Parts: sequence; structure tokens; C-alpha cells
Amino acid sequence: MFYTKEEFEKELCDICRRGELPQYSVESVQKLYTICEMLDERSKSFNLTAITGPWAVMRKHIADCLYFAEMLRGEGAKSLIDVGSGAGFPSLPTAAVLPDTAVTALDSTAKKVAYMKECAAAAGISNFDGIAGRAEEAAHTALRESFDAAGARAVASLRVLLELCTPFVRVGGTFIAMKGAAALEEAEEAKSAAKVLGCELAECRQYFIPDLEEKRFLLIYRKISPVKAIHPRNYSQITKKPL
Ligand code: SAH
Repeated sequence: MFYTKEEFEKELCDICRRGELPQYSVESVQKLYTICEMLDERSKSFNLTAITGPWAVMRKHIADCLYFAEMLRGEGAKSLIDVGSGAGFPSLPTAAVLPDTAVTALDSTAKKVAYMKECAAAAGISNFDGIAGRAEEAAHTALRESFDAAGARAVASLRVLLELCTPFVRVGGTFIAMKGAAALEEAEEAKSAAKVLGCELAECRQYFIPDLEEKRFLLIYRKISPVKAIHPRNYSQITKKPL
């Protein structure tokens, strides 16, 4: 059984206060609750995410993604593509708290995309769309350079992610990677990839999720120039010969 609505509201309010996150509107909190409830329910029959149980879902999914959403709010991005969004992280919580941002979730597993769309509909999140497909293919369609921002969590190493994600971003837009303790080493290793892809690391912001020890970082890349048409390459090239 997931939290009751009252337990959820109380705990979210407490985490936001201790974690220096805003207090969200009644509508946003209701949407976040539905996301968690549905994840809890469906996880019993379908392997959606490795993180389960109310305590961990609240912190490692919801709070973690709210830091991402707040960064996006600060950037003033009006459209986002979440690459490899799985069960909807960070895309679903982001859409729940930023109703004026058009959020697109892309994942290669059609079943996960169907789940995310169903969840968005159940939660009344209308600024959300899901697309089933591989990033390295979708980035060569009309989706190319069409978003203010791209984001990703737990999909690939940073230099691989840069090649998969930056082609979706318009020049002047941002790519935000959600990373753990190895973020700074990954950023170092991704320097040449960023250069090839016309990006600049603008900020590396550490944040702390209440009650958790783990180090979390948001790496913000600014897109300075268009990405060459050959990128992203096919997946085996990207991983075998990373930039
Ligand atoms: N971002 C989610 C899911 C992480 S698991 C979270 O943090 O909870 C990684 C997801 O990326 C999987 O659902 C997988 O299907 C998807 N994925 C991996 N490589 C991909 C690619 N090249 N294009 C699109 N989706 C991809």
C-alpha cells in the first residue's frame, strides 16, 4: 500500500521544506500523488523501476526530479525532451509542477511509453507526450533542434548522453544531465564530446536530497552551435568510439 493522500502531502511538504524546494500547489501535489500511486500499483506486475517502496519513491524519484524541474524553471524552458525516461523520470514530476512547459518523454521501450501516457492521463497532466523510439534515430527526425531543453537520468555515461541528447536542443537551449557521485569525473571525460557537439558546461550544481547520503549533481550544458548532421551516430558507434 502506498501512502494515503494525507501522508503523502505531509511528507512531501516536509521534504520540500528541508530540501529547499518550493511548496507546490494543490493541483501539482495531486498529480505527484497519482504518479506515485500508479507506479506503486503497476510495479507489482510490471518491472518499471528498481526504486520501490514509498519512502524511496518519495526521495529518489519525486524529490530528485523536483530539483531537475526547478532548474528547468530557472532556465525558463518552455519545452523539454526527457531522453530514456523509463517510467517517467524526470518527465512526469516535471510536467506535474511546470504546467506551462511542454514535456516530451522518449523511451525505446514501447510498454514504458504506454505506461507513462496512461499515468499522465490519470493524473490530469495535459502538458505531456510520450514517444516510443531510440534517441539516435528520433534525433534525425523533425524532433531535431526543436526543444528548449533536453534532460536525462540514469541512461548512459555523460559523453554518450551528450551525443544522444544535444541534437534535440535548439541553439541557445540547454541539456541537463542528472548525475551521481561520479559527475565531475564524467564531465572531465566528456570535455571533447561537448566541444565536438557545440556545447559548453555552464554549471555543475550539487544538491542534497533530504535523508539521503548520496551525492547528486545537475550538469547544465548550453548549446552554442548546431550539431553536425552525422550526430548522433548509431548506438554501437557511439559506445565503441565515444567522442
Ligand atoms: N530515466 C529513468 C529510466 C532510466 S533506465 C529513471 O531515471 O528512472 C534507462 C531507460 O532508457 C530505459 O527505460 C531504456 O529503455 C531507455 N533507453 C536506453 N537507451 C535508449 C536510447 N538510445 N533511446 C531511447 N531510450 C533509451
